[in-house]
Order: sequence, then structure tokens, then C-alpha cells
Amino acid sequence: MKKNLKKIAFATLGCKVNLYDTEAMKELFADRGYEIVDFDDKADVYIINTCTVTNIGDKKSRQMIRRAKRANPEATVVATGCYAQVASDIIADVEGINIILGTKDRSKIVDIVENYDSMAGVLNAVSDIRRERVFEPLQIDRLKDRTRAFVKIQEGCDRYCSYCIIPYARGPVRSRLPEQVTDEVRRLAKNGFREVVLTGIHVASYGKDLKNTDLIDIVRQVNEIDGIERIRFSSMEPLAVTDKFVEEMGKMPKVCDHFPLSLQSGCDKTLKAMNRRYTSDEYAEAVERLRKIYPDLAVTTDIIVGFPNETEEDFVQSIEFAKRVGLSKIHVFPYSAKTGTPAAKMSGQIPPDVKNDRASRLIEVSNELNKKFVEKFYGREMPVLFEIRNKDGYYEGHTTNYIKVLVKTDEELKNEIKNVVIEKYCGDETAEGRLI
Ligand code: SF4
Repeated sequence: MKKNLKKIAFATLGCKVNLYDTEAMKELFADRGYEIVDFDDKADVYIINTCTVTNIGDKKSRQMIRRAKRANPEATVVATGCYAQVASDIIADVEGINIILGTKDRSKIVDIVENYDSMAGVLNAVSDIRRERVFEPLQIDRLKDRTRAFVKIQEGCDRYCSYCIIPYARGPVRSRLPEQVTDEVRRLAKNGFREVVLTGIHVASYGKDLKNTDLIDIVRQVNEIDGIERIRFSSMEPLAVTDKFVEEMGKMPKVCDHFPLSLQSGCDKTLKAMNRRYTSDEYAEAVERLRKIYPDLAVTTDIIVGFPNETEEDFVQSIEFAKRVGLSKIHVFPYSAKTGTPAAKMSGQIPPDVKNDRASRLIEVSNELNKKFVEKFYGREMPVLFEIRNKDGYYEGHTTNYIKVLVKTDEELKNEIKNVVIEKYCGDETAEGRLI
């Protein structure tokens, strides 16, 4: 690879899919000889992979563009990702922007940057994503953390939940071809990764647009790859957890007993207003199905509090439901109205202080549930995949059911799977254990 002496810096806002896309773009630039530097350093090119999931994401994305230009007024500043896709006209007016590229054509980003003529003003390279039907082959081979790799298997979403802008920003469901997924996983395994997280905007839709393949099928193919020992999902939809799905997952020992099963609310009235297409009973049934196969199952979830018209009783229903199904952790999001979505126009918007109060109460519930979950495993011997030594000298890793475990040891354990006896809960979703 020839070094071209140009420096490039990246900033990523938002979700795991954006992080994946950034990693893939980093590899494209590195392969063309660019040196990747920190975002606060002086670079020749700044790429801001934007997020639009909330109006706060929009604001942060605009701030990062200005920050890049301040770091080097001569640099080429590029906005890409979801916010760039849906609001290129607004971004074009942000001081310092040079190129706007949405969620499409990222595989051509190096050429787009290199052919850019600053004399020609802002280049708006965003095209209509709604007609996109093919998965754009962005891929990764290398990552800094050589234990767990996120592998994007799918793009886009057709669900149109009433609070979510993503279907407009990412377009319809496009699945990555199975051979592209397995090629990438094989390369990652060769580069030392032992765990993959199958990632996408709506992972459960995998295969919907392809012939003769579905999510079960792609997991089966990944399960056969030597060197990979653990398979996880970045998120899962309750309706995808059918008897067949659970039965098939149970036959694949590499599939971890941790499922991030999206809930959003435990109240049926609110679920309906969110256009979530399942009821709380259906969610509970999905958890029960999984529990039959995975006795040590961890179910983590996302819940939005303060959705329009959510009453105190509705909120309490969510709390009771979370306790009843035995969730192991809840990511709590106070509802944030997103311009352009049906929910933003609903009457019955909840005041910020009520939303914040509900968020802190639910976080407390999540902490209690997590403690209770970890305590179940006291004295148990569990395999831990070790990742990193923390600043206090403990080695950190995760069990298959995603308990973060710390052990005091001088041994170098990176990327090793060792059995650990779980001894105590240390707060913050973490347990301390002892190597055996
Ligand atoms: S399933 Fe709903 S929340 Fe998730 S990306 Fe699709 S529309 Fe958004």
C-alpha cells in the first residue's frame, strides 16, 4: 500500500450500524494510503457519520461539522449517514461543509472525496434511498478490538414504527448476500475474532428480499465457520422468535443465550400507538420460548418512556411487565419527538420533567433486575471470553449471557475463553469472579 501522506479523521454518531459503516469507510481510506488520526487532530479530510434518530442527534451532527472546520479550515469536511440522507438541504447551509453523502454510495467515498473540487462549492451527492433494492457491499476485515466483531448482514427497515425516522433515512430492507456475510466472517476469524454480532437496522428481516434464505439460514452458515465460537444478534424482534426459530437456534451451540429483544413498552395501548405490531403477551411468549431452550437466558431490551399519551398507569404497566418477564437489563430512552414522524404530531406529548422522572424510575428497576439476574449465578462456573485489562488491573470479559466479569489476575487473557466462578455483583452490570 502506498502512503499518500493525507490524514483523515472520523466521527460517528448513533448506533452500531453507523459504527460498522464507519469502520468499513476507514478501511477504504486506509487501503488508499490515508493515515487515520483523531478527530481533534489536524486532518486533511473529516468524515462525520451522522445520526438522525432524535433531534439531538441532528444537532450534534451539525456541531461536529463546525468542529471539524475549526480544527482545519482547509480540510474537506464530509457528512454522511442518516441525518445527511434526510436533511441534505439543512446540512448544505452548515458552515464548513464540503460534501454531503447519505446512506448510499459509501463504497465510492474515496473517489468522491478525491475528485471533489472545492471551487465548485458544496457537493450534494445524496440520492433517493427509497428505491434502493440492493445491499451495498461495505465490508470490514480489521478492527481494533480483536475479540468481538460486528458484522452487518442487513440494511434498511420496512416497519415504520410511528416514532422512528430510520425507514426514511436507510430505505427498505436489503439483505447482504449469504456468501458476502460468510466471506467476511471467515476473514474476521482468520484475523483472530472469536465472536461475531450479527448487526443490521432490522436483523429479523434478513432474507426477506432474497430468494431461498432467511435469518435461520445465515446463522446456520456462520455457525459452521471455524474459529468463531460465539454468535450474537445486535437486536431481535419478538415476532421473529417463533417455535421454529428457537428450535433451530438451540441446535447451534455457538449462538449465545443472550437476546436483545426489543420491547419499547410493556403497555399494549402504547405499543399500538407506536405501531410495534406485537402485544405484551406475544413478547412474553417469545421470552418463554427462549427460556425453554436457554435456562440461563438473558433478555435485554430498549424501552421508551413518556411516549405521547402514556399515562402513569401505562408506565407502571411497563414496569410490572419488565419485572414479570425477568428482563436482565433495560436501555431506557425518554421519548424524543423526531420531526417527520407521525408520533411527533400526536397530541398528548408528555412534559420533559415527567419523562425524566419515569426514565430515572425505570433505570432503577433495570439496576435491580440486573443485580437479581447476576446473583442467580453466584458460585456457578461460567465460560468467559476475555477482552481487555482495565485500568484497575482486572481482566474483563463476558459470559455467553453477557454478564461482564472481572477477574484479578496477572495472566494475559486477551481473546481466551476461561472458566470463571462468579462471586459477587459489583454494580454497573458487572460481576467479579475467580479463574479456575
Ligand atoms: S423496527 Fe421500528 S424502530 Fe426499528 S428501525 Fe424499523 S421503524 Fe425504526
